[in-house]
Amino acid sequence: MSFKSLGLNNALLKAIEKQGYKNPSPIQEKAIPLVLEGKDVLASAQTGTGKTAGFTLPMLQILNDTKHPKFRPIRALVLTPTRELAAQVYDNVRQYGANLNMKSTVVFGGVKAKSQIATIKQGVDILVATPGRLLDLENQKALSLKRIEILVLDEADRMLDMGFLRDIKKIMSLMPAKRQNLLFSATFSKEIKELAAGILHNPVLVEATPENSTAEKVAQKIFRVDKGKKTELVTKLITDGNWKQVLIFTRTKHGANKLTKKLIASKVSAAAIHGNKSQGARTKALAQFKSNEIRVLVATDIAARGLDIPLLPHVINFELPNVPEDYVHRIGRTGRAGAKGEALSLVCIEEMEYIRQIEKLLGQKLETEILEGFEPQNNDEPGKPNSNKPKKKNHTPRNKSKNTSKNASQNANNNRKRNDTRSSRRENSKRR
Ligand code: AMP
Repeated sequence: MSFKSLGLNNALLKAIEKQGYKNPSPIQEKAIPLVLEGKDVLASAQTGTGKTAGFTLPMLQILNDTKHPKFRPIRALVLTPTRELAAQVYDNVRQYGANLNMKSTVVFGGVKAKSQIATIKQGVDILVATPGRLLDLENQKALSLKRIEILVLDEADRMLDMGFLRDIKKIMSLMPAKRQNLLFSATFSKEIKELAAGILHNPVLVEATPENSTAEKVAQKIFRVDKGKKTELVTKLITDGNWKQVLIFTRTKHGANKLTKKLIASKVSAAAIHGNKSQGARTKALAQFKSNEIRVLVATDIAARGLDIPLLPHVINFELPNVPEDYVHRIGRTGRAGAKGEALSLVCIEEMEYIRQIEKLLGQKLETEILEGFEPQNNDEPGKPNSNKPKKKNHTPRNKSKNTSKNASQNANNNRKRNDTRSSRRENSKRR
């Protein structure tokens, strides 16, 4: 299928060609005609599937076809959870709309509002925004949402995770009731379905990938290792593999800083990106990472949301997320738009329960490996009466022992029995 057959105009087709896209991705194939028809769309699409073009291209076409002759009220609003995603969506809006007479801008917190206000005053058709700054500006009467015709909620699941539900409801109340609504989400929890029910009118459901599934081309692997040996292992993997672009996830901002320092001390160039960093530092770190000035970007889940790094080959979970859906988001950073990628997780005994939750969500068991010199010494899972001591460490004398750990899968089998009694705890953690 071609982009042309989706009903897009020549100006957009030219811009798409400039980007080098040959064919629409599955989500684009499904969403673009529906959006052009004016339908409300509820789309399940993980990062890296091309979802941004999936809503931006038809949105530009609709606005272009119905241009207001005299002045430019904001007619389309794209809400995103993070600054980085807002900046990235705005970049795409500009690229795809390069051949149209369409004005757009982006507003988010962490930077001064003055120039944002000045740009809006000059008239914009499309506004990309994070919820907090948008409400700030609306409060100051620096913008009005009364003429919104199209609303896009991008990464809606993450917006809920980040506690934006109240802000979203407030923003809804500032818009006309009659409008086209598009909601994109990587995961489809009960909460997302509830939010969608309150916003969308007779939506068409579009699922580009099976619910909560990970990108097919991502090779996933677990390295069992003790907590205290993780930094050494991660450094070894990067240096032995001569990896040039690695995104590492830690659970905490402090952990991200600590690991970054240790990597730099081991002569692996790295920078951290998290909520305590200024917008300037975040933008700089990302730019350095994209241009290969630094090899490693260490990020927390929230900061990493919305990073667009094409063809990112390696993602490492230095620590596993305690919300299994975050694992799906994290590994969505690799294997983007059909490229191959590798997602590795360093898992200590304290994280075995997280692995079980993740495997349950994915509906698959993950391959486990133990590297020579990094055999876990601690095999007592917290809160378990019996220790999960591996029966025998049968690694080969080679560099990498492809001990696709019988022990680990045996342990996992044993542990599966205990899983049932833990379902209520899992539910709680999902809700968080
Ligand atoms: P997204 O899921 O919107 O974050 O897009 C992921 C990446 O895929 C971005 O780098 C886009 O530039 C790229 N992309 C989007 N659509 C296509 C397409 N049809 N063909 C190839 N790459 C694409």
